[in-house]
Amino acid sequence: MFNALVVEKDAESGRTHAAVQQIGEADLPEAEVTVAVEYSTLNYKDGLCIGPGGGLVRHYPHVPGIDFAGTVEASDDDRWTPGDKVILTGWRVGEAHWGGHAQKARVKPEWLVPLPEGMTTRQAMAVGTAGLTAMLAVQALEDQGLSEHHGPVLVTGAAGGVGSVATALLAQAGREVAAVTGRPEQADYLKGLGATEIVPRDELAEVTKKPLESERWAGCVDAVAGAMLGRVLKQMKYGASVAAVGLAGGAAIEGALITPFILRGVNLLGIDSVMQPYAARVRAWERIARDLPMETLEAMVEPATLSDLPRLGADILKGQVRGRVVVDVN
Ligand code: NDP
Repeated sequence: MFNALVVEKDAESGRTHAAVQQIGEADLPEAEVTVAVEYSTLNYKDGLCIGPGGGLVRHYPHVPGIDFAGTVEASDDDRWTPGDKVILTGWRVGEAHWGGHAQKARVKPEWLVPLPEGMTTRQAMAVGTAGLTAMLAVQALEDQGLSEHHGPVLVTGAAGGVGSVATALLAQAGREVAAVTGRPEQADYLKGLGATEIVPRDELAEVTKKPLESERWAGCVDAVAGAMLGRVLKQMKYGASVAAVGLAGGAAIEGALITPFILRGVNLLGIDSVMQPYAARVRAWERIARDLPMETLEAMVEPATLSDLPRLGADILKGQVRGRVVVDVN
């Protein structure tokens, strides 16, 4: 028997309830590889899956946790052998398939990637899905010619998980980083990660009718969308790109006009981490291991246990979690 965070749904009220329970290996879903989980984490999606479900969870009882790192315990597939250190992110694990908020997980071999050389399983989960996505966003901006554009790169939702890692990665790459936050008390934290400028959220929160504004940003990693993305697009430099990662501020792009695209050649790059092919994941993890300063990563970490997750899951949905929650499942 081992510990798992189990979410149950009351058939009458439709309400969900999450608590740590003891479950057995026979309860795990069928798949080829069993992993002894060492660390998991908390992402925005986990907040939904631990709490109301957000349409992501189809069947209850459910074990959430969209990412984990650990050691292969048993494998019916020759790609992995017991003792291999592995990372899992995405593939709808923790949503459609039981996830990493447990001491064991059973998953498909193609969903796993090797832990990069020199990185611990704890560090991998300090990065987690949010950090991997930040890396994919930075790579997309670079592939689209980020180096040709001078001046600050904007990061929205900067004190959150994606935003914190994006800020650190861009600063490490030598870029000026303008960090947008609704929490002015996090200014010192963000400057510690490498932000050179703090932009109050209010400055970009209002929808305007103007077709274009002054050119300010050489690139943008956007975790917020909503009215902010509508504004940011109008402030991008000629030919610059926005990597659209998240929707913490709304699922629409409010007040957006076609003008930035057709008069300034601005690009909107969609970033998805869930279905990324194996080679792209390995490339991103290797770059993270090489470029992300581990002491900067440590400054983002809030340690937690499985029993903290119901509270923290509610907090992340309210935008109240800073940086990266790392869950020691043992
Ligand atoms: P977090 O909650 O850690 O960060 C989101 C941040 O956005 C908050 O910390 C806050 O930052 C800001 N924010 C929250 N609410 C609002 C609001 N109403 N208006 C403006 N800003 C707001 O979440 P993550 O970093 O884990 O994820 C961020 C987004 O990216 C989510 O929408 C998530 O679903 C998405 N995502 C997408 C992935 C993909 O594959 N495309 C993968 C991972 C995440 P501050 O307080 O600094 O303003």
